[in-house]
Amino acid sequence: MSFAGKTALITGASRGIGRAIALELAKQGADIGINYLRSQEQALSLSQEIQALGRKTILLPASVAQEQEVKKMFESFVEVFGKLDILVCNAGIVRDNLILRMKTEDFVEVIQVNLLGTFLCLKEAGHLMLRSRYGRVVAISSVSGTFGNAGQANYAASKAGMIGLVKTFALEFAKRDITANVVAPGPVETDMTAQLSSEIKDKIISYIPKHRMATAEEVAKMVAFLCTDDAAYITGQVFGLTGGL
Ligand code: NAP
Repeated sequence: MSFAGKTALITGASRGIGRAIALELAKQGADIGINYLRSQEQALSLSQEIQALGRKTILLPASVAQEQEVKKMFESFVEVFGKLDILVCNAGIVRDNLILRMKTEDFVEVIQVNLLGTFLCLKEAGHLMLRSRYGRVVAISSVSGTFGNAGQANYAASKAGMIGLVKTFALEFAKRDITANVVAPGPVETDMTAQLSSEIKDKIISYIPKHRMATAEEVAKMVAFLCTDDAAYITGQVFGLTGGL
């Protein structure tokens, strides 16, 4: 198993892509910190599923946008697991609207969760990874951050910002065995895209050369590879997972 003896903290692990990543890393041997905000039942059932695989878990309810909650989350993680090997910054929200109709608070909230939340987690992880001179960081951005997307100015700005942030983290930590990369998926089948009308979904799918959305498990496999020791020389990169988009 690639991650035997390794510990991983996944933000936004209660549902969707985060949940799939947590399960994939656990299947490959990692003990898992499950961060979530509201979906306690789903987080609990994920925890039970992972424990049934023989791995340890800790439930970490916290908003990644709140500095004190993030600090406490990392403290609790280290109290239980002793070290942090892998961080996946996955927690994210959308508040879509056209720029002319977008409320300032919706712009700010998305930036706070997606971008500030990633910064706060990277800062805490950076301290811990420097101490052990080892770390794997993966952040989940989006094609909206690399191409832009009408109706998603807040989300696209946050996801583009994550790319600059993670590339900088990668540079600042590159001399140690610490890597940081970005996975930028196109549309993925989760609750986030389930909100879309079937008309919009059909339109999106018609643009994708593979003619379907990605599954959360496909994203998880790519993230897992970037967390292995085989990926030790890969850092500061952005990997599209777009079905050819
Ligand atoms: P999702 O199904 O809506 O799940 C979002 C997760 O983020 C949930 O676990 C949620 O926790 C958590 N979360 C939200 N706000 C949080 C906060 N303030 N603090 C901590 N956790 C918080 O989303 P998804 O589709 O799996 O997306 C996961 C990531 O992939 C996001 O960053 C998203 O932008 C990105 N992405 C998604 C797609 C897509 O098409 N689905 C495409 C490209 C990129 P609770 O449920 O506990 O509140």
